[in-house]
Amino acid sequence: MLTELIPDDFKSGFIAILGRPNVGKSTLLNKLLGEKVAIITPKPQTTRNRILGVLDKENFQIVFIDTPGIHKPIHRLGEILVKSAYSATRDSDINLFLIDSANGFNSEDIEIIRKIYSKSNTPLILAVNKIDINSDIDIDEIERKIRAITDIGAIVQISALNGTNLDLLLGEIIKILPNGPRYYDKDFLTDVGNAQTAAEIIREKLIISLHQEVPYQSAVIVETFEPKKDNPKIFHIQANIIVARSGQKALVIGTKGKRIKQIGTSARIELEKIFDKKIFLELWVKIRPDWFKKDKFIKEYGYY
Ligand code: GDP
Ligand code: MG
Repeated sequence: MLTELIPDDFKSGFIAILGRPNVGKSTLLNKLLGEKVAIITPKPQTTRNRILGVLDKENFQIVFIDTPGIHKPIHRLGEILVKSAYSATRDSDINLFLIDSANGFNSEDIEIIRKIYSKSNTPLILAVNKIDINSDIDIDEIERKIRAITDIGAIVQISALNGTNLDLLLGEIIKILPNGPRYYDKDFLTDVGNAQTAAEIIREKLIISLHQEVPYQSAVIVETFEPKKDNPKIFHIQANIIVARSGQKALVIGTKGKRIKQIGTSARIELEKIFDKKIFLELWVKIRPDWFKKDKFIKEYGYY
């Protein structure tokens, strides 16, 4: 085996991206990597897994961990998602805490930071996101509130959507990143596998096209992911959309199947681009009564 030569001053580390739902964590991850590894919607609680994304350059390797938004859970799935977000701070070298400048910094943010820093002194960087919407937020006051709990490595005002100040943010991260090895191969991008990418893209389109509780109470499981038997040039993806009640099934399917067709078409178009292949996408809707309250199903669908 060839040992890779890396300079003595090579820096590396794990950065947990944390914050309340919808502040722009996944948007930031995608923008920093220049690739869509996490799905994004205008609705809270889109991210359900910790998602690893690696930014590798000549002098550093940053392993970002995108996390589910931290909120007050109202059911078992929510509880598990919040736990998984906090658990990302266990092995992080830096915690990157995001707030949405349009919504400000509130008591929930304080509570989250307090909870993390009751057990840890991992360096904290605060990113104030969405400054394209509101840039006159009172940074000094926020800084004072955080310093009452823990030190802050840096505060950077960014727009993850537009890419504003992301170079500054990276600079601040690199400043406090420890010396270390390449944890992942140079060209390793993410731990999200191909079948999971397909499931997530379908879930993204589902969340975007449905309202009320359906997005929060659905899951997508890819059952088939292989070249079509009678035409290997076409890739066959069959997925089950799991809903929690029969009324939700009717909503997902829509009048004369219109809604599920629309979800399928937009998912297929994006998946064909991602995988650079023609795709035959088959979607089925299944009812698993109140699955999001039951550990058995939550585990079976890959959230733990
Ligand atoms: P997450 O739940 O924290 O991962 O947030 P997402 O990345 O899913 O983003 C939630 C919503 O905020 C989406 O509609 C994004 O397009 C939007 N968003 C994220 N970053 C920005 C930003 O810098 N500016 C604006 N205007 N919107 C943003
Ligand atoms: Mg997210």
